[in-house]
Amino acid sequence: MSSKWKIETQAIQGGYAPKAGEPRVVTICQSTTFKYDSADYVAKLFDLEVAGHFYTRIGNPTTDAFEQKLAMMEGGVAALATSSGQAATTLSIFNICQAGQHFVTASTLYGGTYNLFSSTLPKMGIEVTFVDPEAPADDIRKAFRPNTRALFAETIGNPGLNVLDFEKFSALAAEMQVPLIIDSTFATPYLCRPFEHGANIIVHSATKYIDGHATSVGGAIVDGGNFDWANGRFPELTEPDTSYHGLQYVKTFGPAAYIVKARVQLMRDLGVTPAPMNSFLFNQGLHTLPLRMQRHSDNALAVARFLETHPAVTWVSYPGLPSHPSFERARKYLPKGASGVLTFGIKGGAPAGKIFMESCNLIALVVHVGDARSCVLHPASTTHRQLTEEQQVASGVTPDLIRLSVGIEHEDDIIADIDQALAASQK
Ligand code: PLP
Repeated sequence: MSSKWKIETQAIQGGYAPKAGEPRVVTICQSTTFKYDSADYVAKLFDLEVAGHFYTRIGNPTTDAFEQKLAMMEGGVAALATSSGQAATTLSIFNICQAGQHFVTASTLYGGTYNLFSSTLPKMGIEVTFVDPEAPADDIRKAFRPNTRALFAETIGNPGLNVLDFEKFSALAAEMQVPLIIDSTFATPYLCRPFEHGANIIVHSATKYIDGHATSVGGAIVDGGNFDWANGRFPELTEPDTSYHGLQYVKTFGPAAYIVKARVQLMRDLGVTPAPMNSFLFNQGLHTLPLRMQRHSDNALAVARFLETHPAVTWVSYPGLPSHPSFERARKYLPKGASGVLTFGIKGGAPAGKIFMESCNLIALVVHVGDARSCVLHPASTTHRQLTEEQQVASGVTPDLIRLSVGIEHEDDIIADIDQALAASQK
């Protein structure tokens, strides 16, 4: 196995190398636990002195194969799979931020993440400041406090579709000596390389493109191994962990300190573990991720171009279109394509949008993106409905916005379905 392989090869061959006589395909290890003969050896496993599995909440061979492949594809040192994308985001923050501490986040976020940050984490004593990611660096800098522990943002905002200015965000995080945590769900490791642009931690909702077939909910955290946790600001990673009989993460695990702590401390205590069956499916999804992401991106660009010229469409937002404010940034950070999600408004606003969605035949009205099948949604009345109108606008959602997740069917069939549904919406 080689980290020098191209990503297409990593996607197929990475993370699992069977020895002679072992199954060619990663097996579904549907076992909670693992048998040993020596109590001393099990003690060593608990002490992390030897590598091996002892309980599926902490680690499992199927999940391990998925984690290793994803870490390799992102160019990170290790990964931790979780039971959902929400769990991945939650652990990514909890791992370095506790009650009385604070982090800064771009406001253009998936609605569930926005809720988590604006409502649930503050109830636990973690303070959050939302910033406009397009604001000048000087304004964003003002959001930082002495107790700020992280800077968070999405590669491609869901559903605002603004592409992050990685240069600005990574420079700010480095200056403030905090990690840059990136939710790269929409971009996937195929389209964007956050670690090459200064990110330190990546989170994914594996539920989306990584699965790619709408079968499983899951998530992952990938550690870039490129942050100096020993800079004096993160004692939880340098000082002995009293809940793990004095383990010192940086001293013992070096560049993998953050991800080991997330696993042995937080996964141990919070138990947001993926089912081995789901890890199998995510691993399987990764095999075709490069192929699918190219097709999703190419199809979405074709659909965006079609919508842009359609008389019933008032505006189209897709970072692959020259008319999009993030176009130049998309070319820089997403050179192979701008992923499969686009948004647009219809003449007649929200009521016409409702008719449009109900008139689609091939494209399904579902609460999802990143499926091989095309799907459509009205975020203001669904994923973002728990937010106030002000919060919706801050996270990039307007009342007339329709979100299309363009699948990998033939572009002609997708466009034909959109065309007839647009006609129906204008009657
Ligand atoms: N991050 C982004 C960008 C998402 O779109 C989603 C879900 O839609 C999540 C995180 C949460 O992931 P999950 O639904 O797997 O918990």
